[in-house]
Amino acid sequence: MHAEDPSAEGKMAGAPPGAGAHHRHDADHDHEHDHEHPHDEAEAAIEARVRALEEILTQKGYVETAALDRLVETYETRIGPRNGAHVIARAWSDPAYRERLQSDATAAIAELGFGGRQGEHMVAVFNGPGVHNLVVCTLCSCYPWPVLGLPPVWYKSAPYRSRAVMDPRSVLAEFGCHPPQEAEIRVWDSTAEIRYLVVPERPAGTDGWTQEQLAALVTRNSMIGVSYALGPEAAS
Ligand code: FE
Repeated sequence: MHAEDPSAEGKMAGAPPGAGAHHRHDADHDHEHDHEHPHDEAEAAIEARVRALEEILTQKGYVETAALDRLVETYETRIGPRNGAHVIARAWSDPAYRERLQSDATAAIAELGFGGRQGEHMVAVFNGPGVHNLVVCTLCSCYPWPVLGLPPVWYKSAPYRSRAVMDPRSVLAEFGCHPPQEAEIRVWDSTAEIRYLVVPERPAGTDGWTQEQLAALVTRNSMIGVSYALGPEAAS
């Protein structure tokens, strides 16, 4: 199921050093395999298994329900997309930081105190007037947890994983994102080894804004690349 996918390599035009690494999916994260039956049914089966496993582990005293709840809450809120928003706001405000983020994203992100599981090898990709970046994991759901939190359901869905590669513009359109026709769409395939963070363009009309104000315009989706950052009107 997780044999090397040769097509996963070819589309990373302009890839930074290391980005051509094999799409290895044998790291310590769960995988969702494709099934013959409908997605909902597959998902329900997985959820049932997770619940059963959780119950057994809890009964045997191996895990505490409260600890599990705290873990999920931590990734949804504290280690959620707000971390990534701070990284982006800093990159918008501080050209030296932007350069560090470009040359070594893992280190630049760690500077702000964010790192750890599923964020060990980060690469920042920058949107610009002629370039729009989009992140996907074609084989499962590799995602940069320390800066974005837990992946949304659609990110893990089979349609997104295949269509983001085959027809990125129509996927973007569904999210209300319409890069100009002449813009190049770069699709980045996340792997167990490399996780991508999209740096959206700084919205016009935000001169003189503080990093805190700017961070409020940075959405999770804009850091996956399925949308732009919010405009200044969103802050009022
Ligand atoms: Fe993956």
